[in-house]
Amino acid sequence: MQKINLDLRKGDFFTFMKTVLITGASRGIGRAIAQKFAQNHFGLILNCRRSVDELESFARELRETCSAEVLTCIGDVADHAFVEQMVLDGQAHFGAIDVLVNNAGISHIGLLTDMTREEWEYLMAVNVSSVFSSCKCVIPEMIRRKAGHIINISSVWGSAGASCEVAYSASKGAVNAFTKGLAKELAPCGIPVNAIACGVIDTDMNRCLNREERLALEAEIPVGRYGTPEEVAELTYFLAGCSPYLTGQILTLDGGWS
Ligand code: NAP
Repeated sequence: MQKINLDLRKGDFFTFMKTVLITGASRGIGRAIAQKFAQNHFGLILNCRRSVDELESFARELRETCSAEVLTCIGDVADHAFVEQMVLDGQAHFGAIDVLVNNAGISHIGLLTDMTREEWEYLMAVNVSSVFSSCKCVIPEMIRRKAGHIINISSVWGSAGASCEVAYSASKGAVNAFTKGLAKELAPCGIPVNAIACGVIDTDMNRCLNREERLALEAEIPVGRYGTPEEVAELTYFLAGCSPYLTGQILTLDGGWS
């Protein structure tokens, strides 16, 4: 009998499966996005920087509850070399990356005059340069396949601007402009690039507000409450399946706040 050589790389084995890379997936919005894609049978490349135990235990949970194939990549998205390696590892493991979700982000609350140059540069590196790095690394393969989706998680402050969050607002404004520019660049290849401008979403990022501040903020939001990470995940998943004609959009998800 003839022996069949089944010497497949992992990437060959997983080529039937769609894959998403989500930065900042250990908690909050990124975690909810990962859950949504896992429930829909995507392979997952999940990143975080510090919350290693949380991410590894979440990955185990997804493997057990959704039979998901999960690759975890721990590192700082502000580091271009790390992002490059993460994309290479993801492509080697799954064969290709179909959806890139740039979610990792940090905020900085305080007067601009109290912010140090180092704090400014690091915030810009995490919130903006990381988006450049991941897009630069995934795009060549997406262009080769003429397929893929890029979704950036932004903020309403990116267009409105917020007092005591000037650097954060500037970073999200940059992400919005980046989204629009890259959408035009990739439209001929059929690769949509969109952003979700979130209002207030119930995650650790807003835990600094006390009960009174939270109630006051909720009273300002026409829907009367914070958004949930699951609501952002729903919209992200929708965008990951949208037509290439829906591109260059900054979709506001804020309960009618802005
Ligand atoms: P979060 O609960 O603070 O979670 C942030 C996630 O990003 C964590 O997984 C964190 O992992 C990761 N992360 C942070 N810095 C990183 C770095 N340098 N490298 C790799 N991973 C990093 O925040 P969130 O509320 O879910 O926010 C997610 C995104 O939504 C951010 O871009 C944020 O600006 C945006 N957004 C949030 C709101 C809101 O109200 N929550 C509103 C508008 C926009 P580690 O713990 O390991 O660092």
